[in-house]
Amino acid sequence: MTKINYTNIAVYNHDRQAFIPNQHMVVDTQTGMIIETASGNATRQACDEVVDMRGRFAMPGMMNAHTHMTDMPTYWWQNGAEKRHPDSREMCTMFAIRNMQDALAHGVTYIRNVGAEFDIDIEIKKMQEKGWIKGPKVMTSGRAFCITGGHDSDCGYEVDGVDEVRKGVRQAMKNGVDNIKMMVTGGVLKDGETPEDIQFTFEEAQAAVMEAHHKNKTAAAHAQGNAGVKEAVAAGFDTIEHAFEIDDETIAMMKAHKTTIVPTMNAMYAIYKHGQGIVPDWAQDKVITNIQKHFRSITKAMAAGIPIAMGTDAGTPFNGFQNESAYELQLYVEKAGMTPAQAIDAATINCARAMHVQNEYGQLLPGNHADFIVTDKNPAKDITVLQADKDVYQNGAQVHAQQEVAVAHKSQNPVHISAAL
Ligand SMILES: [Zn+2]
Repeated sequence: MTKINYTNIAVYNHDRQAFIPNQHMVVDTQTGMIIETASGNATRQACDEVVDMRGRFAMPGMMNAHTHMTDMPTYWWQNGAEKRHPDSREMCTMFAIRNMQDALAHGVTYIRNVGAEFDIDIEIKKMQEKGWIKGPKVMTSGRAFCITGGHDSDCGYEVDGVDEVRKGVRQAMKNGVDNIKMMVTGGVLKDGETPEDIQFTFEEAQAAVMEAHHKNKTAAAHAQGNAGVKEAVAAGFDTIEHAFEIDDETIAMMKAHKTTIVPTMNAMYAIYKHGQGIVPDWAQDKVITNIQKHFRSITKAMAAGIPIAMGTDAGTPFNGFQNESAYELQLYVEKAGMTPAQAIDAATINCARAMHVQNEYGQLLPGNHADFIVTDKNPAKDITVLQADKDVYQNGAQVHAQQEVAVAHKSQNPVHISAAL
């Protein structure tokens, strides 16, 4: 057993919405758990090592509740032509391994993957747990569920009618998924549909949720237009992905159902900013039509107290597994009315709650996994600090070491988010 006492460290405290200076944190590297966090440097634990953290800032590793690890964000699109789904199983696996490494090196220690070609996330999770590949811990969904010809129908499971939904969801759980992902409405990255289109019926959506909940699994709905969001909330989904538009009635329903929103604002912003001439016009047009509506909707949800869990939709154009989680948090602060501490919560405890792992992840408390990141500056004062290189620890082991300690933050200018939105 190796116990390490990290001393002289400011530890993020969710209840106080702040980093508490002059703390120490004792980690057991054998079990990967935090044993103690308290003020001062002294511990009664018999420690094998003491590491002086020189007043730096520790917060839980970021969690990203909406990723697509089998997608390479810039690979699909060349000169406006879609090259999205001829990808082979081998290429998707290679993308996933690379994306996993990128995510961990940038401080993301847990992801919920919500749609993987060929169910590859199920196998990637096994490899990550055995230590064969580096990466965040994975909550899997396998292939997403869609209607025949609907959103994601090129690589998801096409199911129509309550019986096919039931059979499909049961089969996915037999295959080993942790979460069910269902495309309830149309979306941006498919031609010939809109975010307002409702695709699954209420009865189909409800059947998927009931099957998932019977097995203690969570269920996530891709739902963008207000009517589709309402249907998904009423069907009982744990999380609503995207939520481009919500009204007061939707908010009241979300409160009654304790629904969480996963915004994926960077998915829209990345296409808005970088997509012209590369992403096809039909997708670019949908982004331009919906981006302000989307940002206003997330702002409204935040103001109303709806829990928001960070998710980026990593794998969509120009939206990968590197600093995009940190960009997403900057968008929450600059475009959705969050304080930096609320953005930190969105990427930690709120994800943990939405994923039903809040007793083990999402806060730096004794009994939780020692997944944490360490920065030179205070992210609760300036959320863009998280875009700088940082130390990353997973289950008590350092998995990424910050380079160039003194100049790291200076060398990476925070992104400038357009004031026009
Ligand atoms: Zn997605």
